[in-house]
Amino acid sequence: MLNTLKILYHQGKQFIPDLTTARVPGIFRGRPEISLELADSSALAECCPTNAIMTDPVRIDLGRCTFCGECSRLFPGKISFTTDYKLSANERNSLIISEGSVAPVTIDPNHIRKEIRNSFRGSLKLRQVSAAGDNSCELELNACGNVNFDMGRYGIEFVASPRHADGIVITGPVSKNMSRPLQMTYDATPSPKIIILAGTDAISGGIFEGSPALDRRFIEENHIDLYVPGNPVHPLTFINGIVDLLGIR
Ligand code: SF4
Repeated sequence: MLNTLKILYHQGKQFIPDLTTARVPGIFRGRPEISLELADSSALAECCPTNAIMTDPVRIDLGRCTFCGECSRLFPGKISFTTDYKLSANERNSLIISEGSVAPVTIDPNHIRKEIRNSFRGSLKLRQVSAAGDNSCELELNACGNVNFDMGRYGIEFVASPRHADGIVITGPVSKNMSRPLQMTYDATPSPKIIILAGTDAISGGIFEGSPALDRRFIEENHIDLYVPGNPVHPLTFINGIVDLLGIR
């Protein structure tokens, strides 16, 4: 009994009491901030392996950023990364961070489809599709259901079959081989249904963008309800994104 109490004391709380205000360690790279300091903008753009940095004015596209940190290492006065993990948005353009902006990334309530909050506020079941993913985002999505993050507290869960799901979560850049299974999974999901893109690869193709091995027509032709940046996504980014989309705070 004494040993058990010692272990409990040593381990502390095994869950995060409030997922919307949890803090993450300083090494985490979340929302970047771009100062108004002058910098060689072409060198800045060239240092980015995924063309996530645009110039005049300087902007970073979180849908392309791999959060490698190279830009902040080479231009520390110009670019820094905060620990703000609330990066999810329902508009693709909201993922672009502009020079001088310290505003958080938010969900635009005017662009949420009406049936999403009407149908899924109390319960949202999701089928995950790894469309040529590298298992990093998939691992983090698994972590969303563990005892620490416990997204089930909001009624959000992953299910084994698209026929039991309210939507799909896509990870990976979507290879040609996975384009048909992805479409079949979506078709097997009953309406109304939502589409979530989790991770840089899913949002833009990431380092594989433009590769002939990809077939991203599904992403281009369907309405995306939630973009969750990260490489891989952090569970807090994913959970807070859905919580904000559903309005269940
Ligand atoms: S952290 Fe993002 S924007 Fe900066 S160099 Fe890496 S991929 Fe590019």
